[in-house]
Amino acid sequence: MQVFDPHHSSILIDEKTIQNRVRELGAEISAQYPDGVTLVGILTGALYFLVDLSRAISSPIEIDFIGISSYVGTSSSGTVTFTKDLSREIDDRHVLVVEDIVDTGRTISALLTLLKDRNPRSLGICTLLDKPERRIVPVPIHHCGFTIPDQFVVGYGLDYNQAYRNLPYIAVLTPP
Ligand code: 5GP
Repeated sequence: MQVFDPHHSSILIDEKTIQNRVRELGAEISAQYPDGVTLVGILTGALYFLVDLSRAISSPIEIDFIGISSYVGTSSSGTVTFTKDLSREIDDRHVLVVEDIVDTGRTISALLTLLKDRNPRSLGICTLLDKPERRIVPVPIHHCGFTIPDQFVVGYGLDYNQAYRNLPYIAVLTPP
């Protein structure tokens, strides 16, 4: 694991708090989809969350991933680019999009538009983090781990220029 400079960071959500909340979300999702659900993870930030969440769900699940890119450094490029499509059809399936963080809402909104056209039976959103202060496009969030203030965070899948994803906690990053 990289050395994380404590002068430029502080822990916002520790590992135990994340794991407890992920278990709660897993129970919520199991109750909502007793007959099964397809989890669609947004690469790469939602990877760690999706793996832990999937193990906390007791209903049958399928897992797929979609690649989307919108960030450079600590700021949104404003343009959403699809870099990898789903591997399977989702028509007539209950689909739950699993995201690391909803910020402006542009990414999820563009993804919902794309997925709705593929006729899923239902389409939900589960995000680990929500930064509502920065919302530009309103999006319906069905399951949310934590609401956080307008700060740039890393860890538990979230990166800064591809670094820090493997931190087991969420930290606020203040670039030097
Ligand atoms: P939105 O389209 O909602 O503005 O942004 C969603 C995407 O931006 C997330 O999937 C994530 O990749 C990135 N993002 C937004 N806020 C943060 C943040 O605080 N830290 C990191 N590492 N990525 C963020």
